[in-house]
Amino acid sequence: MPRVNRRARADSDREDRPSIVLVLAGRAFVRGRLQPVEIAIDESGRIASVGKVRGGASRHDVGDAIILPAATDLHVHFREPGGPSEAETIPTGTVAAALGGVTLVGDMPNTHPPVTDLETWRDKVARVQGRAAVDVLVYATPTDPGALPALARHAGGFKVYLAPTTGIDSPPSPKEVPALWERLAELRLPVAVHAEDPGAFGVDHHPTSPVEWNAVRPVTAESSALDRMIRSPPALRLHAAHVTTLDGARKLRQARVSFEATPHHLLLSDRSGTDARFKVNPPLRTEAERAALWKAFQQGEVPMVASDHAPHSADAKQLPFERAPSGVPGVETMLPLLLDRVRSGELDLGVLVRAACERPARWLGQPHGRIAPGHRAHLIVVDFRDRAKVVGAKLASPCGWSPFEGWDIVRPREHYRDGERIVEAGEFVGRSSGKVVRPEYALGEPAERPTTAE
Ligand SMILES: [Zn+2]
Repeated sequence: MPRVNRRARADSDREDRPSIVLVLAGRAFVRGRLQPVEIAIDESGRIASVGKVRGGASRHDVGDAIILPAATDLHVHFREPGGPSEAETIPTGTVAAALGGVTLVGDMPNTHPPVTDLETWRDKVARVQGRAAVDVLVYATPTDPGALPALARHAGGFKVYLAPTTGIDSPPSPKEVPALWERLAELRLPVAVHAEDPGAFGVDHHPTSPVEWNAVRPVTAESSALDRMIRSPPALRLHAAHVTTLDGARKLRQARVSFEATPHHLLLSDRSGTDARFKVNPPLRTEAERAALWKAFQQGEVPMVASDHAPHSADAKQLPFERAPSGVPGVETMLPLLLDRVRSGELDLGVLVRAACERPARWLGQPHGRIAPGHRAHLIVVDFRDRAKVVGAKLASPCGWSPFEGWDIVRPREHYRDGERIVEAGEFVGRSSGKVVRPEYALGEPAERPTTAE
């Protein structure tokens, strides 16, 4: 009896199983190492199997290149609504992501107006639908307590600013923070935190260089804010954005709080440039602090990398240093800069894949970031011989500059989303089919159902 049932079930599984539409063959990063495999992708855009494939689906052999999971960048600012379109838009930012091997971005809520309730969240969702080249998770910021229950059922995550920043004027006071953590812990969404304590900022109101900016917003401001995160309920899915110091990284690891480092804090110091293109919050640190953070990253002690892509127009960045806005673009260069470090032997491929692909996708509750059956087939093809240099004017972001101008990069040659090729020979060939996504563990509606019609 059980045997018959099992066979009947197996037969019906076979009939229901979506057919294989593409097989990618080559060396792929599977179960922690590069190995020759065939990756079967079905018509629903999922990975059906990883191994040997029989039968006639269209087969693409990547030759000497390698296949990796596409990356997730959980921290970008695409400036809509209300931002200057000469800095960034959702269409340009998501194409930049696609070209940089990033299949999902988390868009931060400090826009104009900020995303603080269901209405402003829906407005941003409407701007993403039909205009995004990759998937977008839309964060909200929990400044309006009355809006939290509705946001918990719709938004992709929360972003808490412990310091004033573009679009956020009044952060919670230190006294309010513990109650905020308690409230957010019940809402089951990821909570990213901008961890700087304005109480520890310096008094120089006329900084003229990155070195002086580092003195105005010193490492002690970060350290003090991180202390507030460590004292938080364990049920809270807390994540510190852009950690800049080894001490901060150690403290968070010990407290088992998630965090990211950015490519600019890993690769640039306060001596990398003298003008406002190198002005960013938190500031670029000293070369010794940068080197220590990079070493921790190399050793796999920084769980995630995220770009904090925050473009401003070249004109805005040419203002006198003290008046210029903070932020640098980075979504298109994040993975290529780090792939070049893999090429040069300075960075282990597994460390990079875990930090850029696996862990960010898992933190945001997404079924991708690993090459495994059942995962969405968001994959990139990388040929380490495809060496190039960063040319700001050629990046997809309209701001047209990069703090990494002239740096060596390895750009993904191909990028697949749900098995569909969206980047070919380093050029974007996709459509505006990116979706708004939410964590699978979130309360409320799955994001793929229409959310704007309610
Ligand atoms: Zn940011």
